[in-house]
Amino acid sequence: MQEIKQQFKVEIANKKKQRTIAVLLLLVVILLTFNMLRDSDTLITHNQANALYAKNTITQVIVDGDFIRLLTEEEGYKIYKGAINKTAFYQKYPVQVRSDNTYLYDIFVLLLCILGFVFIYRMIQKNKREQQEQQEKRASMLKIEEASKIQTVEALTSTVTFADVAGIHDVKEELEEIIDFLREPKRYHDLGIRLPKGVLLVGPPGVGKTLISKAVAGEANVPFFYQSGASFVHIYVGMGAKRVSELFQKAKQMAPSIIFIDEIDAVGKSRGGMRNDEREATLNQLLTEMDGFEDSAGVIVIGATNKIEMLDDALLRAGRFDRRIHIDLPDLADRVKILELYLLNKPNMVNIEEVAQMTIGFSAAALDTLTNEAALYAMKAQGPMIETSDFEAVKDKVLLGKRKLRPLNQEEREIQAVYQGAKALVSTWLAVEFDKISMLNTQVLIQEQEIVSKSKLLSYIKVYLAGSLATKKRYKEQFTNGAKDIAQAKEILGKLVVEYAMGDNFLVTSKQEEIFLRESVSEVNTLLETLDEALTEVVAHLLKYENITEDECRDILRKIF
Ligand code: ADP
Repeated sequence: MQEIKQQFKVEIANKKKQRTIAVLLLLVVILLTFNMLRDSDTLITHNQANALYAKNTITQVIVDGDFIRLLTEEEGYKIYKGAINKTAFYQKYPVQVRSDNTYLYDIFVLLLCILGFVFIYRMIQKNKREQQEQQEKRASMLKIEEASKIQTVEALTSTVTFADVAGIHDVKEELEEIIDFLREPKRYHDLGIRLPKGVLLVGPPGVGKTLISKAVAGEANVPFFYQSGASFVHIYVGMGAKRVSELFQKAKQMAPSIIFIDEIDAVGKSRGGMRNDEREATLNQLLTEMDGFEDSAGVIVIGATNKIEMLDDALLRAGRFDRRIHIDLPDLADRVKILELYLLNKPNMVNIEEVAQMTIGFSAAALDTLTNEAALYAMKAQGPMIETSDFEAVKDKVLLGKRKLRPLNQEEREIQAVYQGAKALVSTWLAVEFDKISMLNTQVLIQEQEIVSKSKLLSYIKVYLAGSLATKKRYKEQFTNGAKDIAQAKEILGKLVVEYAMGDNFLVTSKQEEIFLRESVSEVNTLLETLDEALTEVVAHLLKYENITEDECRDILRKIF
């Protein structure tokens, strides 16, 4: 630090010196130019010239273009050539004709001046550039210093347990095994059981990906290493990779332990498109580290992301993040549990069920903020307890990032229920497997298979069309909520015709896509007629529970058919 300050002082002194020289040079040039351009001779009349002639004070006569210049000891005068009797002057006084040489001399001086200007200008520019470079260098030195100060890899001790995580029961269950492994890695090793090295938590912000990872560390009582993906790539070239290896080294030393990488997509973005050498170096280092340790080392890497589709395939390959756990926005039942947790130690008379009903689309983090706002509101109103009305009063205020969170109103809820319900029913009917379809999300509809039949692809298309066709049928109107699914349907359709050449006689024509699309639309419309009664039941189920499983759909169908 001292060194940087010293350097800074020297630079300021240098800068001052250079500036003084530049100003002096500029002054000289200005004076020279002024002198050259100055025409100091006074213009006189015929009579005045004659008076001078008579006085005998003229020392020199100069013929200068259209003028005759008359110089005396003290001063210079000039007069138009035609205005005097030149011969008389020429005879009496020494005459000099101003030749082109004198002009050349003037031009030479002028050129010198211009050169002087250019030289000074360039010097100033150079000076500025050097200053800028030095400033950047200084800033980077400070940044490196800071980076090395803040960013040293440190283990945290987590005090979070599963009791602090409300809802997401499935996720907890999936992670139990990992906790058990972290408690006794040797036992697993002795039995020759391999566990994943990496777990990827996929879900929108604020659903508890970080919280649950901390809870895993807390439950297993192991050190927790937190790093955000962005922090790897925002620092210096080469530093990201270095940090990754440092992180793994420490985690291995303190094993069993957990490495948590938040927003792993910042490092693991698929490498197509724009290249970023720093990110690539960091990603390669991460892959190397993950391949490098035995699963018996007792280090579990948990990555969190909102955008799994953007991740590089290499990260998802076997032996890396090969276990994926999806965490959705909480459904009604989970929202109840989360609100219960948040209101546990706050005096309240809140109808939690009602608040949960009106907060569809809220993440746990948003519910946290909402509860806090409601408590503040109650306090300002001097109420002894928080009430449901306090939640109602503040719910339009809660923000998620920059976006205001606005829950769906009753009409939107119904439209969405018809939309998602139709997808669930058509999927079940056409035997397109799915796990759970919720009001807001469709979970992993397409199974990853090596060989897929044409009829299966057409079924996928029909499922993606089902929502929009059902709402169109019920409301005689079209809505914007189908945009993503329609795009999916079109994408599959395009692949079916172009990539897989499944059109008539393997021909690729745009007409072919239209034929398939028309057939699918008409089939789904017929199917929706048949399923109308079932759809009403599914919609009721969705409005009540916010999601429906394949089994539940099958039960409803079995009852009716
Ligand atoms: P993510 O990592 O998915 O963005 P976080 O784990 O950082 O979300 O959650 C942000 C905050 O939201 C947490 O500090 C916690 O207060 C709250 N939260 C999230 N999920 C839950 C949950 N399941 N139960 C209780 N609180 C939660």
